[in-house]
Amino acid sequence: MEHQAPSTLQRLAVVSLLKKEEALAISAVVGLPWFLFPATFEVAFRNNHTNILRAMVPAWPFTCLPVGALMKTPHLETLKALLDGLDVLITEEACPGRGKTRVLDLTDVNSDFWSIWIGTYKKDCSHQDMRQKKSVETCCYSVVKKYLNVVTDLKLVNSQLDECTMYLWQWAQQRKGSVHLCCQKLEIWADSSDVIDILQSVDLHCIRELKVTYLQIEDMALFGSYLGQMRNLHTLMLEDIMNTYRNIDSEELKEEWMNTLFSQLPKLHCLLHLYVDYIHVLVGSLAEWLRHLKNPLETLSITCCHLIQRDLDYLPQCLNLCGLKHLYMSYTILEELKPLGKLLERVKDTLQTLDLEHCWLEDSAFSDFMPALSQCSQLLKINFVNNKLSLPLLKQLLQHTAKLNKLTQELYPVPLECYDNRDQVIIERFDEICPKLLDILRSKRQPKAASFVSTICRKCFRSCVYDLEGRHCLCWQ
Ligand SMILES: [Zn+2]
Ligand SMILES: [Zn+2]
Repeated sequence: MEHQAPSTLQRLAVVSLLKKEEALAISAVVGLPWFLFPATFEVAFRNNHTNILRAMVPAWPFTCLPVGALMKTPHLETLKALLDGLDVLITEEACPGRGKTRVLDLTDVNSDFWSIWIGTYKKDCSHQDMRQKKSVETCCYSVVKKYLNVVTDLKLVNSQLDECTMYLWQWAQQRKGSVHLCCQKLEIWADSSDVIDILQSVDLHCIRELKVTYLQIEDMALFGSYLGQMRNLHTLMLEDIMNTYRNIDSEELKEEWMNTLFSQLPKLHCLLHLYVDYIHVLVGSLAEWLRHLKNPLETLSITCCHLIQRDLDYLPQCLNLCGLKHLYMSYTILEELKPLGKLLERVKDTLQTLDLEHCWLEDSAFSDFMPALSQCSQLLKINFVNNKLSLPLLKQLLQHTAKLNKLTQELYPVPLECYDNRDQVIIERFDEICPKLLDILRSKRQPKAASFVSTICRKCFRSCVYDLEGRHCLCWQ
């Protein structure tokens, strides 16, 4: 958390006490006014006074101890002190009128808590406490049954948990009767044996956000059976499902494996955001994916994929896309753009983000959906960089987007007329054309952030950019 600590007399006194008189500070914890707890805790935390932290956790006067916002980099000794403090809560009678902690939040989401308390000691805590209680109640189903909740995000990269996560994991496993390890965000980047190990030992109902990278297609059936139990999942990110049988004629097998995944999708009643990245097996089966969803999506992201006509034709028909807010299709080969226009017509009242960066689209493709684009009145962000558009087409596109008053970020490609035959920007033409393009927008409205971005330059390996402030280019500064 970035902030300037106030140099109040109280704070200086706390710092000085913790520094010089640790034993006294520990004994003073019991009598410490509740409103001094956050500031004292923060000072103890920043200075690694683990003994004081250990004493403060059982006496913490709020429902939630959102320590994750302070712990940018996991630190094992500090974590051990915090968990020791929770052990006191579990095993001993807590201090009278104190010991309210029910949640140790190790995620990085509650930074407001600290800025409020460290900035102004007099701030009324009731609102904050209420908010925390609410988030705890909705955090998971087992909060009532279990005594303490430890909320954490889990990230398993290269088949390994870091030492802090491993320690926490083992600590929680040994206290299963009294501690609920609540993992709402799970990121797995591993081979499948590890994926299954982890999925077996977390409470699947708690998971709200799941990201899986490098899953083998033949493990889809097993993975699917766990996925289907994540009834509260709102975000599913699948990255690079590996088809190890790519060179073998195994279409039937492939279909069977994928069907086991699809059969689980109807169980994900809370799913709002679907991200699919670099998945070869998506070709021709997008309809299967979307047809099985039970809930209208807010976000559909298909990046680094290949969509054929059959896939794209399904988009405007799909009932689960009627309220779509964010559509990302960057680095994806789109064989036919007419259906995208039809989809835009359907989501014109809800769509806020449209990203078609690096789709290698040409004039004719854009002509197919431009009229629909200009009706998407709620759009906040558009990105069309790295598509091959001519100057006349780009001018037409800007006439359309100039009608979109809510845009806060708009990225356009530099027209083909600005490149030489080796795809290098001709800077004189760039300087002449880009201001005129920006004027098309300015004639209708005042753009907040509009940029024209070239392909990557072979000399400086950056793009040449023209925006509201002028030209940015490393080669022609
Ligand atoms: Zn939970
Ligand atoms: Zn350059």
